[in-house]
Amino acid sequence: MAKKSGILYAISLKFSSFAIHLKSCIVKRTEIKYLLEQTDFGKDVNVKGWVRTKRASKNVAFIALNDGSTIKNMQLVVEMNPETEKILEHIHTGAALSVDGVLNESLGSGQKVEVHAKNIEVLGEANPEEYPLQPKKHSLEFLREKAHLRYRTNTFSAIARVRHAMIFAVHKFFNDRNFYNIHTPIITGSDAEGAGEMFQVTTLNLENIPKTETGKVDFKNDFFGKPANLTVSGQLEGELAALALSKIYTFGPTFRAENSNTTRHLAEFWMIEPEMAFYDLNDNMDLAEEMLKYVIRYALDNCMDDLQFLSKRQQEEDKNKKADERSPELVEKLQAVLTEPFVRLTYSEAIRILMNSKPNKKKRFQYVIEGWGADLQSEHERYLVEKHFKRPVILTDYPAGIKAFYMKQNEDGKTVRAMDVLFPQIGEIIGGSQREESYDKLYARIKELGIPESSMWWYLETRKFGSVPHSGFGLGFERLILFLTGMTNIRDVIPFPRTPQNLEF
Ligand code: ATP
Ligand code: MN
Repeated sequence: MAKKSGILYAISLKFSSFAIHLKSCIVKRTEIKYLLEQTDFGKDVNVKGWVRTKRASKNVAFIALNDGSTIKNMQLVVEMNPETEKILEHIHTGAALSVDGVLNESLGSGQKVEVHAKNIEVLGEANPEEYPLQPKKHSLEFLREKAHLRYRTNTFSAIARVRHAMIFAVHKFFNDRNFYNIHTPIITGSDAEGAGEMFQVTTLNLENIPKTETGKVDFKNDFFGKPANLTVSGQLEGELAALALSKIYTFGPTFRAENSNTTRHLAEFWMIEPEMAFYDLNDNMDLAEEMLKYVIRYALDNCMDDLQFLSKRQQEEDKNKKADERSPELVEKLQAVLTEPFVRLTYSEAIRILMNSKPNKKKRFQYVIEGWGADLQSEHERYLVEKHFKRPVILTDYPAGIKAFYMKQNEDGKTVRAMDVLFPQIGEIIGGSQREESYDKLYARIKELGIPESSMWWYLETRKFGSVPHSGFGLGFERLILFLTGMTNIRDVIPFPRTPQNLEF
């Protein structure tokens, strides 16, 4: 391959004047995003990127070049002559080019500027017989199998840019509000977080597992001398930090070995978990709503080109769907979330609404709600948000039995101060609660659930020494990106999805 590109260097398009050649060579590359904004036509420029399309006619060829700095391509104009014809034979969709040329005003529609190529160097060819991405629509399923190349499509580069902007916005939101970012551990010795099935971490030889006298796995010989897992949440450690620093947040990888093959679950995903001392459930809800609105506004202010592309993509996708199955227009959907306060109501009120709803009465829900205590499925959450209230909803005060052990127990002895934020198209995007700050109540709950005290002693101690009311929540980052991009499968909003039976790339 290296040899081949060597030859290409030799046949790269030469300038008629050596002087200009020298001058052009020292022109530094400008990223397409910035070049598209420039108006000093006639100046020498250099662009580098990957070919999206090539159109050749008798006198001129047009190449659309993309370098990932923006969804927009730079149009290259190449005059046809025997030399350029030769080099154009090596240029196909996917090839990488470095192009020296002159910035010109574009007369064509669709772009303001273009580059008249004077010297084209093919940095890397892409054989059209082998390169899987062609300038046509590929299915998302096909692109998942080509995840090593799917960044090179408009859809996946747009998602990557939005994802980046949201990472930045999340950190900015918290930094501006005096929250400290905490790195909580990825390998954990406690399996009591109760948030889901865990992945075990071990260096034991699986072909020859050491056993104790009673036939159990002897973890004394394992790396940590005890069972270890990948974390399902950074919350418990986050609480330790909040009970000293007041306001902290984590933003880290999270692992759940749930064998749930849904469009909303990954085995490896990223979670943002703020934890605040002296916050009650209302403060917690206020923060969650403020944060979601902040990052959505940030996307609207900073990612409009990508959002508009994704909106068109979604409308194309929806063309063949029935009217009531089509998604709302993406940008309008995002703006709508900003305009009104989220609905806040209790789980008990939500159950009443759901019991009286048409789909429940007519048994059109997959899981019909039989009464108080039922765990809500995403179909119920989406009914409340999309059909009943038509805006985001925060449900509070869930039955203790369907929520985690650390949530603050209500006076009624039945419910806990939990809150789930429910979003259109997504269902649960945030799960959180006020935490139980009373040592006695927390201890009793741990005993009741049979959680070994030996793995929780450090957590319990925070309730012994300077315990204060505190609250926090977890935002699933990929669920946020699903909402922002209008994508419908969570496998498409993380670069390299990990799901059951799927560990490629
Ligand atoms: P769900 O009921 O949707 O499975 P959960 O109640 O198990 O979620 P929590 O433990 O409350 O989830 O986690 C907090 C947030 O993390 C959720 O609101 C969701 O946004 C996200 N999340 C949870 N599990 C996953 C997963 N497997 N893949 C991606 N995001 C997830
Ligand atoms: Mn939850």
